[in-house]
Amino acid sequence: MSPIKVGVNGAKGRMGIISIAAVKNAEDMELAFGLDAGDDLGGGIDAFKPQVVVDFTTPSAVFANTMAIIDHGVRPVIGTTGLTEKELGAVRRRLEEKKIGGIVAPNFSLGALLMMKMASIGAEHFDSCEIIEQHHARKVDAPSGTARLTAKIISEGRPKGELSSGSAASRGGVHEGIRIHSIRLPGRMAHQEVIFGGEGETLTIRHDSISRESFVPGIVQAIRRVLEIEGLEVGLKV
Ligand code: NAP
Repeated sequence: MSPIKVGVNGAKGRMGIISIAAVKNAEDMELAFGLDAGDDLGGGIDAFKPQVVVDFTTPSAVFANTMAIIDHGVRPVIGTTGLTEKELGAVRRRLEEKKIGGIVAPNFSLGALLMMKMASIGAEHFDSCEIIEQHHARKVDAPSGTARLTAKIISEGRPKGELSSGSAASRGGVHEGIRIHSIRLPGRMAHQEVIFGGEGETLTIRHDSISRESFVPGIVQAIRRVLEIEGLEVGLKV
């Protein structure tokens, strides 16, 4: 079988470099291109004809990039965070029109995927929950895409629960009815605690990405999976 032709957008960034190495190391994949800021994404797709484009760019560019990839009939694997619910809806519709698959995954690491799955179980049993997420100081968006997806998963599985009060400035932001506290510090990479509270007890689910290598198996899995699906999948399945 011929290898899967993969383009990487954001190729000079931290995740782009990791993704290019992942594609080159996968026996069933071939790098079609690595593009970055200032390059012509549509022109690159026309010239090198990838089957899949992986995007690790920036929240301000990710929607336009995703739509450009789909409009060229190519399947997107989007690791860049920051797509809004409205934008995800537009991406979903465009994929359905084109009858191709696309994956948007705010976190490709196995541990983070399991953390979200475990959080969905906690949500069935606890009324109260807050999220603390910590990232490196250069991360542009807050709350993180992982925290937003976790909050969505928890709120879908959680019929009740009140937000406790306090000074808004000190109590984090609210997403999907869950308080999220975002810390941005040098020395951190990507970390999240989901804390459930009940009468006389708490349950804390914690995940730490201490190396970007943690994202590699998920990126490779998503590239293979996106060829098999039609429509949008948000998050990887474990
Ligand atoms: P980064 O190191 O800043 O890399 C982003 C790269 O994209 C830079 O080289 C940047 O160029 C380039 N870029 C900016 N706008 C572009 C455009 N319109 N077209 C093409 N390239 C463009 O950031 P990173 O740490 O790799 O993170 C990238 C994104 O992935 C962030 O949203 C981050 O939150 C997310 N992320 C996701 C996961 C996951 O598992 N899904 C894991 C880690 C990070 P300039 O520097 O010249 O602007």
